[in-house]
Amino acid sequence: MDSENKESTEKTRGELLREKLFYEGTNLAKELDDSEIAQSDNYCEDYKAFMAASKTEREAVEEICRMAEERGFRPFDKREKYETGAKIYRINRGKAIILAVVGSKPLDEGVHITAAHIDSPRLDLKQNPLYEDTDLAFFKTHYYGGIKKYQWTTIPLALHGVIFRADGTKVEVRVGEDEGDPQFCVTDLLPHLAREQMKKPMAEAVEGENLNVLIGGRPFRDDKASELVKLAILNLLNEKYGITEADFLSAELTMVPAAKPVDIGFDRAFIGAYGHDDKVCAYPAATALLDCGVPEYTSVCVLTDKEEIGSEGNTGLNSDYVAYFIADLARPHGFEGRDVLCSSKCLSADVNAAFDPIYPNVLEKRNASYVNRGVVLSKFTGHGGKYDTNDASAEYTASVIRLFDDRGVAWQMGELGKVDEGGGGTVAKYIASLDVDVIDVGVPVLSMHAPFEIVSKLDVYATYRAMLEFYKSKL
Ligand code: MN
Ligand code: MN
Repeated sequence: MDSENKESTEKTRGELLREKLFYEGTNLAKELDDSEIAQSDNYCEDYKAFMAASKTEREAVEEICRMAEERGFRPFDKREKYETGAKIYRINRGKAIILAVVGSKPLDEGVHITAAHIDSPRLDLKQNPLYEDTDLAFFKTHYYGGIKKYQWTTIPLALHGVIFRADGTKVEVRVGEDEGDPQFCVTDLLPHLAREQMKKPMAEAVEGENLNVLIGGRPFRDDKASELVKLAILNLLNEKYGITEADFLSAELTMVPAAKPVDIGFDRAFIGAYGHDDKVCAYPAATALLDCGVPEYTSVCVLTDKEEIGSEGNTGLNSDYVAYFIADLARPHGFEGRDVLCSSKCLSADVNAAFDPIYPNVLEKRNASYVNRGVVLSKFTGHGGKYDTNDASAEYTASVIRLFDDRGVAWQMGELGKVDEGGGGTVAKYIASLDVDVIDVGVPVLSMHAPFEIVSKLDVYATYRAMLEFYKSKL
């Protein structure tokens, strides 16, 4: 090698010092080898299948429960004393599930908890939803969670949920998912006649009260009765499900995007699907628990409901159901729940806003999260002035970073949006209120809360690895 060439390949002192002192994010797609990328791709095939089957929290609970039972998990019985290696689950009213593997250490040394939510934004049917107008039949809806309303018009929708008949029997409804099923749709104005609508601010262009779903248009053949399209629809529903209009009053029915999870991009780098927020964290949290063997610390995975509407209600994390589960697990061992919780650690797993170069102005580049850079750690979430959030301690944050670095988990630090730009919350603050050390982690998402959200396969797998190492760790 001649001296001229040597000069150009050897690093200067400045370059070496920069390498040592600067922190720079890494792009996994550049750094991982083919086999690691193939591992992520394989994992994500199973994730896509889970997503296709789990569009509501009830369906997600059923799927996770089925997967857990296949791996030897059994329903929790609070009268039992569970010993090392026991695999248990408790379902909360069909809408939330806790999975646990009992570890080798005593419970009062703490447990390792992951918490993610399995509800997603959607259009819930009102309690009196069915009406007819100008020979068209519609369902009225009340949207659930934070949506940009215009995004929910003119896309195919599927109907999911449960109805209880007058005799108390339950009907499970899922229409619009199978090949050949009919689907549903919220209509919108044609541009030719939308001059006034197009002048409105986006938030007002489509009104919540107008998110009515088209469900039919063929009248019942009878010359005398009125509302014949509505009658024909009810007749169909009565024949298929044995229900009458009064049964809607107590039903939980929802319209979700009918689209199936699918690879996005020529290179298949991404997955597009409805409800990545937050099943893209729930699935890794659950599957890592199924795969963690017998950990030292008892590992607990909480998949909760109602996060999108403020974690309220008895299936949301503002309820005490997690604290009660821990207390019930600990009592036969002679401990109180608080003895366990005060020594426990938690990863609160929820998605983050990925930097989108088309909309760079709402994120602060140095503190944003990016697709393909691994699982995102967020010390805090909340909004303006750090309101309404957990703020993880430096001690705990540093210990999680050391764990991920030691175990080769790809991670990045990220904050949701610029200061005062808006913000969002997670379940972390509810876990923190149980006297548990908790930090937010999750997958960066493009188009969050849209009917069709996008994540990177490499980030999904990095999140699985983060969860697995957390369960196995000595944190
Ligand atoms: Mn979320
Ligand atoms: Mn959300």
